[in-house]
Amino acid sequence: MDTQEAPVSRSGQCLCGGVRYQLEAEPLSFMFCHCRDCQTVSGGGPAAIVMLPKPAFRLLQGTLKTYSKRSDRGNMAHRRFCAECGSQILSELDARPRFVFIKAGTLDDPASLTPRANLWIRSAQPWSAMDRTLKQFETEP
Ligand SMILES: [Zn+2]
Ligand SMILES: [Zn+2]
Repeated sequence: MDTQEAPVSRSGQCLCGGVRYQLEAEPLSFMFCHCRDCQTVSGGGPAAIVMLPKPAFRLLQGTLKTYSKRSDRGNMAHRRFCAECGSQILSELDARPRFVFIKAGTLDDPASLTPRANLWIRSAQPWSAMDRTLKQFETEP
């Protein structure tokens, strides 16, 4: 997996500020997921997702609530969000237990990220602008 060249913001929070977190490693990848579940929870086209080793995520304050659902591929995904304002913070996947998937928009400085790939392009919305120079995956790598 590619690593980021630029230094990336190491902290983030939810909309109400009740949840704050810190990342203690550089992201392994940054990608857009166009699966229907990500469209539903993000309320938009794709979800912007930063992948890190699981131990790199540190919750500094607040409480994360969890909603677990089987993904389009049949694996359990655990989506964690602020119990107060509902902001989606991260997902954990049973199929990839060593990693955590952070919602990029919750970082304090998302502009420092460089996207690498589009996932689940088979369910991408026709009105969703997609950078075709990125790696494309019909489903997941
Ligand atoms: Zn909140
Ligand atoms: Zn998805």
